[in-house]
This record gives sequence, C-alpha cells and structure tokens, in this order.
Amino acid sequence: MKHNTTDRLVNFDIQAFQADLIDWYDKEQRDLPWRKDRDPYKVWVSEIMLQQTRVDTVIPYFNRFITEFPTLESLADADEERVLKAWEGLGYYSRVRNLQAGVKEVKASYHSKVPNTPDEISKLKGVGPYTTGAILSIAYGVPEPAVDGNVMRVLSRILSIWNDIAKVKTRQLFEGIVREIISKDNPSHFNQALMELGALICVPGKPACLLCPVQQHCRAFREGVQAELPVKSKKKAPRPLSMSAAVILDDSGKILIHKRPSKGLLANLWEFPNHESVVEFNTQKQQLSEFLKEEHSIDVKLSTQFTTIQHIFSHLVWNISVFEGTLIGGFEDQEDFKLVTRSELETYAFPVSHQKIFKDFLKVMN
Ligand code: SF4
Repeated sequence: MKHNTTDRLVNFDIQAFQADLIDWYDKEQRDLPWRKDRDPYKVWVSEIMLQQTRVDTVIPYFNRFITEFPTLESLADADEERVLKAWEGLGYYSRVRNLQAGVKEVKASYHSKVPNTPDEISKLKGVGPYTTGAILSIAYGVPEPAVDGNVMRVLSRILSIWNDIAKVKTRQLFEGIVREIISKDNPSHFNQALMELGALICVPGKPACLLCPVQQHCRAFREGVQAELPVKSKKKAPRPLSMSAAVILDDSGKILIHKRPSKGLLANLWEFPNHESVVEFNTQKQQLSEFLKEEHSIDVKLSTQFTTIQHIFSHLVWNISVFEGTLIGGFEDQEDFKLVTRSELETYAFPVSHQKIFKDFLKVMN
C-alpha cells in the first residue's frame, strides 16, 4: 500500500518528539569545532568534509583547514595546489574542488556572503539538497530539511518506514516528512539533533535503544524491528583493477612524479608513475617501462617489487604492484612529469594510495 507523508505522521506527536529530541541534544551534544559559531562558511566546510568521512577523522582536518583558510575569501583566492594539499588524505577530492568553485561563485556573485535562500545556495557548485539544508538550518535558522543516510536511518526506524533508502524517491519522501516535523523555533538544533542521534545512539546495526531520548516515539522499537531498518539495496561490488607503479630516482636521488589529468578520478593530484596492467602479473614491470618510454619518452630501468598496495574506492579497487626504478639518460620536466627532491615532494598533494607507496619505499631505503 502507498502512503503519503501525512499518513506516516498519523498518531505521531510532533511537538513532544521535537521537545524530547532537542532537550537531549542541548544536554548531550559533542563539543565539535564547527559548532563554535554559526559562520555559514565554516558550516559549509564541515558538512562537505563530513560527507563519507567520520567525525573523528574530520576534526583535525577541519581545524587545519580553517587555520589555513579562515575566511571564505581566503579559500576563494587560494592556489588549488595548496587547497588540495590541505585536503590530502581526506579522499573524494572532487568535494574540495567543488567547494572552492562554490566559494569563488559566492565571492563573485554575492559579495562573499553565503546566500540564505534554497534557490541560490543549491545552485552553487557541489551543494546538493543535504548541504543546502544543513547550511540554511544551522547557519541561518531556516526550517529546511537536511537529509542524508544517517537521518534516513533514524527516521526509517522512528516512523517504521520500509522504503529503500538507496532510492532518490525515498530521500524526497524523508525531506517531505522533515518539513512536517522540523521545529520552526529551532530548526538548527532539530536537524543537528537528528544527525547527532544517528551518530551516537541510533547507529547502524545495533542501535542503543535503551539510552534513546525518543524511544517512546519510535515505532520500530515498539515493533522490535529496529535492527532490520533501514532497508538499503546493495550497490554493485567495486571493480578490481590491476596496476603497476614505480618510485623512480635519477642519479642525484631526485624522484619522478606525475600529475593526474585535470578531469576525472583524483584530478590534478600528484602520484608516482603508474599504468593499468593488461596482462599477467609477471610482465607488469615490462608493461610499465614500455608505457613510460612509448607514451612519454621516459627511459627507466625497473628492478625489485617492494610492496603491493590496495586502495578501495566506491566503484573501483586498485591493486598496485610497486617497483623500484632508476631513470636512464636525460630528463627534462614536462607539463605533467617532474623530478623533485625529497623535501619538495612533501609539498605536493598525493592520494592516500600513493602516500602509502612512499611510506613503504622509505622503509625499504632505511
Ligand atoms: Fe533508534 Fe532505538 Fe531510538 Fe528507535 S529507539 S530511534 S531504533 S535508538
């Protein structure tokens, strides 16, 4: 049977729910650096960092990032290389590229003040419905829904909703519900309380129902089905990709690095020369040296394989065999290849997988 938003809320005491949720949040909220003020720029940065990344991981990144780019203008004006370096290790680099593009738009079109209407905010680069709602409610007190996977899990349970949360339609259903139940007096704390409940109590798997401040409103708890919710269809398993890479040195000990293309996965980050392997394992070394010679006119001699690195993206798994190598003959810097010293290398932004390569390389050298 199909239910509309209003059907779901029959016999649901919205006001008592708001009061119990917000009271709990006011007492129990964690002391997080982005909650110190309601600066929309900082809310924006924190929400983008928190997408697909845990709070504990984000805290030091957020503090460093805000120290380096304390204002929206400072981020808008910053060199992309510096911005990527400040994000290094957080992954999903398109997030920070879009963030910088978004703040540039705000600087150019809104006198550096983050706009406060859903229409204007949602048009900014990288700002989807969730971030729009988070900025508007937290920074400006506008009663807009901010619905992510966390909030959908909590509300699926509270209202015993069995729709698949992987579907866009389900997110829209929850947005409709939040519009009905959000506190108009304190939308900021209401939205943050839902997020906090999902992070601390109504966690995936086994929620801590006995500690839950809204237990008496929760239909899944009453029905004993909280562990079965939310319903989420499985994504396709990530595709494995076999690769070879090498840390290649010249006579003076300088290291060869490569800049990734400006579009696509990990765009504009630096890495060690690498290549997708198309045939068997024992020819990987040869494939990589032939690729460098034929595609980039770089002559190398590769020797021992010193490590294997696996890196899992949402859609892809890189299995990288990594070799030591030396440069043969001359080399002149190219647009996307450079020779750098060890200390220069530290100033370039590398993806996590290639940071691991270098760590393992240093272990072998020492
Ligand atoms: Fe989640 Fe349990 Fe609280 Fe319901 S009672 S909201 S399932 S923690």
